[in-house]
Amino acid sequence: MYIDSHCHINFPELAARMPEILAKMAENQVTHALCVSVDLPDFPQVLALAHQYPHIYASVGVHPDYEDTPEPSVEQLVQLADDPKIIAIGETGLDYFRLEGDLEWQRERFRTHIKASRLTRKPLIIHTRSASEDTIRIMREEGAGTEAGGVAGVMHCFTESLEVARAAIEIGFYISFSGIVTFKSAKDLQAVALELPLERILIETDSPYLAPVPFRGLMNEPGFVAHVGEYIAKLKGVSVEQVAEQTTANFRTLFNVPA
Ligand SMILES: [Zn+2]
Ligand SMILES: [Zn+2]
Repeated sequence: MYIDSHCHINFPELAARMPEILAKMAENQVTHALCVSVDLPDFPQVLALAHQYPHIYASVGVHPDYEDTPEPSVEQLVQLADDPKIIAIGETGLDYFRLEGDLEWQRERFRTHIKASRLTRKPLIIHTRSASEDTIRIMREEGAGTEAGGVAGVMHCFTESLEVARAAIEIGFYISFSGIVTFKSAKDLQAVALELPLERILIETDSPYLAPVPFRGLMNEPGFVAHVGEYIAKLKGVSVEQVAEQTTANFRTLFNVPA
């Protein structure tokens, strides 16, 4: 049994195919998926999916790549997170790859999410791209992670170095691998996954993006997370069952959702 720790099934291309998506999840023994919020205008749809389907959890947050979108306040995030199916704050973080110029607003938005996570005691879903130094620095400054009396979280769709992974793990975070880890070109990332203990790893699709091999280039969906799990099992030389069980247990521990 797998859980897809990060997907965007509220995006129209996936939302239109929900029965098919749930069937593929069942076929691949993917019991649950976490539908991750990217902005406030679309949040009602994310919440509605979580309320409609027992297999779907949700988060609330505003993605660092969304420039022209309503800015969330700490109070607003805390209030919107007040629902049993909202199990995380995010996705949030920093992205210096997609956007350029003065990105102080991005760092402020990130701080807002960390504050909301501390207040709600709900874990953070962190997106970081070409910005790992600032990401880790702000996490430390704002008291993200269990070490600082905050709440842990996950570095999602991880593509950074082993040092960054270890810095995040040190303050209580988990590292989530997407289909990228299955790509032939992802040698460095595969080396990171090999090095990290399975007890700290989550798996995700980030669907509709980044379909794993053998579906690379096609539209991704939560059921495909099984291929990420299978790849990590092969990479680490452990059984597929072990990866499925451990990553599921990690998800349940981090997001506080009992089986
Ligand atoms: Zn992301
Ligand atoms: Zn995402």
